[in-house]
Order: sequence, then C-alpha cells, then structure tokens
Amino acid sequence: MSQVSDHIAGSSPQNGMQRREDMQRREERELAPYAMHSVNSRGRCNKEEDQAYRAAYRGLYQRDRDRIIHSRAFRRLEYKTQVFVNHEGDHYRTRLTHTIEVSQISRTVARVLRLNEDLVEAIALAHDLGHTPFGHSGEDALRGLMKDRGGFEHNDHGLRVVDKLEHRYPNYAGLNLTYEIRESFAKHTTRHDKPSCADFNPHESPPLESQVIEAADEIAYNNHDLEDGLTAGIITLDDLEEVQLWAEAFHWIGKRIPSAPRKIRIYQTITTLINLLTTDLMESSFKRLADAGIKSVADVRATPGRLIAFTLEMQRKKEELENFLAARVYKHYRVARMASKAHRFIEQLFGEYTSDVSQLPPEYQQWSEKEGAKRAVCDYIAGMTDRHAQDEYKRLFYPFERA
Ligand code: MG
Repeated sequence: MSQVSDHIAGSSPQNGMQRREDMQRREERELAPYAMHSVNSRGRCNKEEDQAYRAAYRGLYQRDRDRIIHSRAFRRLEYKTQVFVNHEGDHYRTRLTHTIEVSQISRTVARVLRLNEDLVEAIALAHDLGHTPFGHSGEDALRGLMKDRGGFEHNDHGLRVVDKLEHRYPNYAGLNLTYEIRESFAKHTTRHDKPSCADFNPHESPPLESQVIEAADEIAYNNHDLEDGLTAGIITLDDLEEVQLWAEAFHWIGKRIPSAPRKIRIYQTITTLINLLTTDLMESSFKRLADAGIKSVADVRATPGRLIAFTLEMQRKKEELENFLAARVYKHYRVARMASKAHRFIEQLFGEYTSDVSQLPPEYQQWSEKEGAKRAVCDYIAGMTDRHAQDEYKRLFYPFERA
C-alpha cells in the first residue's frame, strides 16, 4: 500500500532517466519547426487533476497512444473485417493488423520528416476505431439505416468512440484525448457535427502528423489488399500485368531473383511497392514543404489541401492500382456476396433492437433514453466485432440458441 502512495506522491527519477520535461526539450531539439510539438497542443477537453505521477515519464501524445491501446474499441479491431472476413483464413488482414501496418509506415515517414512520432503513432492506432463489423458493407448498412437520424460515417463514429463510448474516468465519458488526435477524425470528414468542447475549424488544415496517416493508410491497404487478393485467388498475376506500378516492380524483382518461388516473388514485390510509395511520399512531401516555405504549424494549418502528398506521377500510378482493386477485388463476387450478407443481417439486427430496446444490454437501454433508440442501436452495432454480430444474430433469430 505504502509503495502505491509513494508513487502517487511523486516519482524519484535517477540521473540519466528521461522525464517528461527532458522529452519536451528533445522534441525542441530534434523535431522540425513545422512538426506538432507536444507543448503546443491545444490540450484536452477535461482538466485532469492529480495526474502528475502518471505523467512524469510519458509525454502528452504517448499517454494518448496508451489510452487508445488500452481501450475496448482497440481490442475489438482484432475481430473486425478489413476486406476478407476473419473466418476465411488466419492470414488475411484484420482491422488490427491493418492498423499496425499504418502505424509502422507512418512512423517511418514521421521520423524521416522530423515530425512528432508519438503523435503520428497515436493517430494511426486510433484511425479505424470507428469501423463497423464487416468492413465497408457494415458501414453502408448503418448509413442507410441512419439516414434520417444524422447518418453514419466511420470517422464521425471514431470521434464518438473516443469522446463518448469509452468509459474510463469517474467524472466524464471518453478517453479525454488531446485536440490533435480528435481533430484527425473530424478533418477526415466532410460533414461537421460540432463536438461539445472544441471547434474544429473547417478552414484549417490538420497538422502534418494527421496528413501522414491518410497517405500511410492508402499505402497499407493498397498493398495488403493486393497481397490478400492474390492469396485468396480472386486476382492472378496475369490480371496484374495491366497495372503499371505492379508490373514494373514485379518484373524488376523477377530479374533479380528469377528462380525464387512465386510466393517469394510476390512477397518481394509487395515489399518493393511499399518502399517505392513510402519513399516517393517522403521525398515529394519534403519538397512541397520547402517549395511552400512552410516554417511552422500555423503555416501548415493555413495551407489548403495536403502538404503530405505523392508526386503527380506516383499519384497517377497509385490511382490506376486503386481502380484495379475496386473493379477486381472489392467487386469480386466472393467479396460482394459476403458484403450483401453482412448488409442483410446488420439490417435485421438493427430492426429487431429498435423495435424493442429491452433486448439491448442494460447499458445500451440507458444509452437509448439519452440518445434515442436508433442512435443507441447504431452505436451498439457499430462497436460489434464480426463474430459478436454473428452470435447476436443467432441468439435473436435461431429458435434453439440461448439468449
Ligand atoms: Mg485505415
């Protein structure tokens, strides 16, 4: 007991240990002037008392990252579909592994451009918290069902998750994250539902750290959807010949390791593509920052459009790849079938719960009194993992399933 209270009373750093103040000084020395320094954060909605001992050894954004990792919504990412449903095989990406890939690519970019790696990591780990079960088909279903009740969009919903749906603190809902991480959800969206404690000015661009995530997200999903599409056998190497970016990398690899097995050549091609795209992004962005004369976060915020961007040439090649994926992977009959199935049963779950909210767990019944039945049901369903949604479906509609 006494040890706990000793810790609460204050930490006792030894020589050579880095305290939060040292980390702030390190940011000052090492980060670029246009990086988001944690001392300049616009802060948290709720004032936090008695946190000195917790904050002694971690910076502001490190603490945000830790809150995100310890949230329930984060753990659920493991069982949420990216493109291929979880039970199709253990080697396909899930929302969780996708998120980790985005975080890894973003941190590389942040380190090279001397941006705030802690902030980038926190935003990356949070960026998909608002996704529904069953990927975009789940989102489409909820969007349709909520169209006369304010709609549904996964970034808006991500903000609801971190502001309202996680419960960690005695006096307020949410994770009480800093403005910059919450803003990254809001700036992803076109509509503006005004969050309670801070205005996200729609005329301000988000900090570079937030812009990095958008590009890293694209690099991650384009490449892993290619790889997963090949693994699932829904696209072939012949199909990919029409995609310039792929074809160039694949033939280059083929010349270097001609006798390597197909699997290794595919793997090496994906690695090469991630490398090519990430390198292009970093070099192109660095040049854009210099050309635009960006010297501060205020300059970043005042610059419309994106400063973190690919070269035009790479952007064109990337779009060609994206069009290919849209036509051949996301619309493939096996993916489409799963998508319509998910659509149907999310509609049925929604209909059943809203017709009688007493079927909801008690905390969501209470939530429905506050938020209205439809929004509460939408929050409940959006939070589900694929398998929880499937189990609920069985419990509601299969006569011999336990309730
Ligand atoms: Mg994503």
